[in-house]
Amino acid sequence: MNADSTVVVVGAGQAGSEFAAELRTLGFEGRVLMVGDEAELPYKRPPLSKGFLTGAMTADQLPIRNAAVHEKNRIEFLGGVSVTAIDRAKKTVALSDGQSIAYSKIALTTGGRARPLPLPGAQLANVLSLRSMADAAAIREQLVEGRRLVIIGGGYIGLEIAAVAVKKGLTVTVLESAPRVLARVTAPEISEFYTRVHREEGVDIRLGVQIAALIGDTAVSGVQLVDGSIINADAVIVGIGLIPNTELATAAGLSVDNGIVVDEYGQTSDPDIWSAGDCANRPSAMLGGRVRLESVPNAMEQARYAARALMGQPKAYDELPWFWSDQYELKLQMCGLSNGYDRLVVRGSTANRSFSAFYLKQGRVIAADAVSQLRDFGMMKKLVAARASVAPERLADEAVPLKELVAEVGA
Ligand SMILES: Cc1cc2nc3c(=O)[nH]c(=O)nc-3n(C[C@H](O)[C@H](O)[C@H](O)COP(=O)(O)OP(=O)(O)OC[C@H]3O[C@@H](n4cnc5c(N)ncnc54)[C@H](O)[C@@H]3O)c2cc1C
Repeated sequence: MNADSTVVVVGAGQAGSEFAAELRTLGFEGRVLMVGDEAELPYKRPPLSKGFLTGAMTADQLPIRNAAVHEKNRIEFLGGVSVTAIDRAKKTVALSDGQSIAYSKIALTTGGRARPLPLPGAQLANVLSLRSMADAAAIREQLVEGRRLVIIGGGYIGLEIAAVAVKKGLTVTVLESAPRVLARVTAPEISEFYTRVHREEGVDIRLGVQIAALIGDTAVSGVQLVDGSIINADAVIVGIGLIPNTELATAAGLSVDNGIVVDEYGQTSDPDIWSAGDCANRPSAMLGGRVRLESVPNAMEQARYAARALMGQPKAYDELPWFWSDQYELKLQMCGLSNGYDRLVVRGSTANRSFSAFYLKQGRVIAADAVSQLRDFGMMKKLVAARASVAPERLADEAVPLKELVAEVGA
């Protein structure tokens, strides 16, 4: 890669920002152009359902890197513009403002969008979802004491919004179609814990609920369930997952399968096009298959590895996945993937608001959840990364420091 090269970063989010910055860290001298369909410089999304929603954080605290850093790093930012097509034969990208830009390499860091509710009434006013700063600002407008808020989906985002809204004095109902909240990512014991906490805080959590339609004239006034009952609402938030933004890659003829398919270095089926973050599907020897993860650590690390590989310093990316979620005063931190676990070991008690849990598969620790156990989480990550084989009784025994277990297994 020489100084005449142009790298176009498509999508100005967590992964795009990291990719561009890493290129400069590694001494890339060419042009770096970051094109983002949102107007803002790349910003942190986690606070959108946490501090930004409570009002504790303001918009100026959200940028990942401020304008001065972009300038210093000579990262050109084209905001409010989307890349509409990639011509791989001519090596150009077409932009929504009519420009055509020649590229040497592309980083596709297009993230994802909120999954829409496929039901009648989903288009009514005050039916909202949360992915962007603009979405969060619109939701914040609705968080007025005394209003009735219905949240569809008992995943992280729905539960985080519920925690903020109930503290602001709204009447909050969470509707979850599965028999438990957080069903995709945690054990039943953890789901039960979070259901209990939310109910203690005043949230009406309803499980196994099927929705027929959203009702109202121009604005939503309620949610009708298939049993005919209606839950009145001043606003409805839909939090039912993410659709990866892969259309551009598909149209360009790249390999796409639940995300843009990349190898362990972040390279797509076209050697000049790289991808990272929520939109990328990568192999993981550690996790035993292909994964597409939606988390900040994954977006940042994968982007850095991809930029290094592009700069001729390839190293396979296979870091331990981890994630966090803040609800009320509780900090949930999770690492590994628990799919296929055959035993859950709880350390402490789920009757308290602080404990941890280890997911075991054939005697090995494959994942762990920590609820307000900040000091232990580092050790938990080590045990999971090492797929440590530890006696369940010792894992469960709070008198045995995790440090000791880590030392024993040499993790
Ligand atoms: C409310 C909320 C709370 C979250 N909380 C946590 C948390 O607590 N912990 C955690 O680890 N993760 C959390 N996440 C997830 C985390 O924010 C994402 O995993 C991370 O932002 C992914 O980064 P990304 O760069 O892949 O995608 P994004 O940050 O989504 O960036 C992609 C950008 O590309 C743009 N784009 C797409 N297509 C085009 C195109 N054709 N042209 C131009 N631009 C395009 C998109 O609009 C977007 O701006 C949260 C997410 C949300 C929404």
